[in-house]
Amino acid sequence: MFMKIKRSQFVRRFSLGIAATLLVSACSPSTSGGDATSDTATGDSADKIIKVGTEPAFAPFEFQGDGGEIEGFDIDLFNAIGEATGYEIRFESLPFDGLIPALQANNIDAAISGMTITAARSQTVDFSQPYFKAGLAIAIAEDNNEVKSLDDLAGKRIAVAIGTTGAATAADIDGAKVTTFDNAPLALQDLANGNADAVINDAPVTLYALTEGGVQGLKVIDQLLTEEFYGIATPKGSDKLAVINEGLTTIIENGTYAEIYQEWFGVEPPELPAEYEPPAD
Ligand code: GLN
Repeated sequence: MFMKIKRSQFVRRFSLGIAATLLVSACSPSTSGGDATSDTATGDSADKIIKVGTEPAFAPFEFQGDGGEIEGFDIDLFNAIGEATGYEIRFESLPFDGLIPALQANNIDAAISGMTITAARSQTVDFSQPYFKAGLAIAIAEDNNEVKSLDDLAGKRIAVAIGTTGAATAADIDGAKVTTFDNAPLALQDLANGNADAVINDAPVTLYALTEGGVQGLKVIDQLLTEEFYGIATPKGSDKLAVINEGLTTIIENGTYAEIYQEWFGVEPPELPAEYEPPAD
């Protein structure tokens, strides 16, 4: 009940706020009109399990619910993929920068964690088709009127989450003093405490932290730095990738994906490319 209230507040503000212009401007109505119930594949043998790593500190994509269970858009999405393909989905918490090593060591079958499909990561893991369109944004103190764009961050103190696209972007800024944290909420707290001048992080996550996460005194610059697509990662050559893509296609076509997106973001999902080639790093 409590989560539902929080979620609906976020949905309202997210759709009214800059996220609407930043993230949803490229939206087109979902073309799906099919039955929203997923057709569970037959067969339920014990090996039809997908072990999924995630770092639950990236709300609203994955976070620890009030009862300690992991919830979020990514969690609902992967569970729907499981239902559509007849696989049981088991989630496991791992640090974000430990997800790719865990895939490489075959300790997990897949990772979902708001992970951007990048050329560098594609050298060591395989990605599903894109499942979410996002982008990086700059957060600053509410009373900061100096920083208006990426150029204004030269020489500034920037807090980021380790191993992320936000960290990579910060690393390229002239003379910036970059501090890395284990996750985005910690980086935002550092900024709220006045120890940093800015945070570079995924826009939907920063907006959620500001509206629902109790982070006070910050604002987000109304301009995305990048366009990024999230994908589900698997070990290179994994036979689970085809299953995951098949499940994603099914839930996009039968309307389940749009329902989950609506529930978390309060708007119709943008159209996603069926295939995506990330820009060279
Ligand atoms: N989308 C960003 C990345 O892939 C951040 C992901 C995260 O912090 N969970 O680097």
